[in-house]
Amino acid sequence: MVRKQLAQRGIRDQAVLHAMETVPRHRFLPAAVQSQAYEDRALPLTEGQTISQPFIVALMAEALALTGSERVLEIGTGSGYAAAVLSLLAAEVYTVERSPTLAKLARERLAELGYHNVHVVVGDGTIGLPEHAPYNAISVTAAAPWVPMQLREQLADGGHMVIPVGGHAEQILLRVTREGSMTRSSQLGGVRFVPLVGRHAWDDG
Ligand code: SAH
Repeated sequence: MVRKQLAQRGIRDQAVLHAMETVPRHRFLPAAVQSQAYEDRALPLTEGQTISQPFIVALMAEALALTGSERVLEIGTGSGYAAAVLSLLAAEVYTVERSPTLAKLARERLAELGYHNVHVVVGDGTIGLPEHAPYNAISVTAAAPWVPMQLREQLADGGHMVIPVGGHAEQILLRVTREGSMTRSSQLGGVRFVPLVGRHAWDDG
């Protein structure tokens, strides 16, 4: 996979391309779909969740404009794959997952593979993770009905947040940049994520 496909689709950041090449995506997948690990598409995990398409992981990482020194917050650990990619591009990654089952699997896998700067926390990511805020970058990998205010508040000045916002079927990937008490947004394209379920997003069932 990766370098050629991603570069062809417009990913330019060399550090992102290198991270995508380095992280063994198959290790984050259930056995049944491991053989498809290096195709550029989303795949099923347990608990009805999905691991994102590599291109989208790369696009989101690139949009965060990381230089290696940042503290990053990810909402929606899932398999832990995107967190592993981010961990190669930043100093510390805090990642919040609402499913204790997925969080446990991801934590074990990340430790096994040596991604020691990733911290997996079980909880409702729609309230962020105030104890380690502010974050230089925030990546939300589940679909939100709006940008939760708590996440906006936990973004450091000058920091970027990427977040899919829209309905259940499809969303627009937004890049939100904090500038003092204001935020500026730009659109990165159409995407499809599983819903962000929590206090400041979609209701549970
Ligand atoms: N980044 C993941 C893919 C995420 S799929 C990867 O690389 O594999 C979306 C994940 O968001 C699911 O695991 C789902 O359980 C989780 N999720 C949904 N709502 C959440 C919330 N409020 N807080 C934390 N995690 C949430």
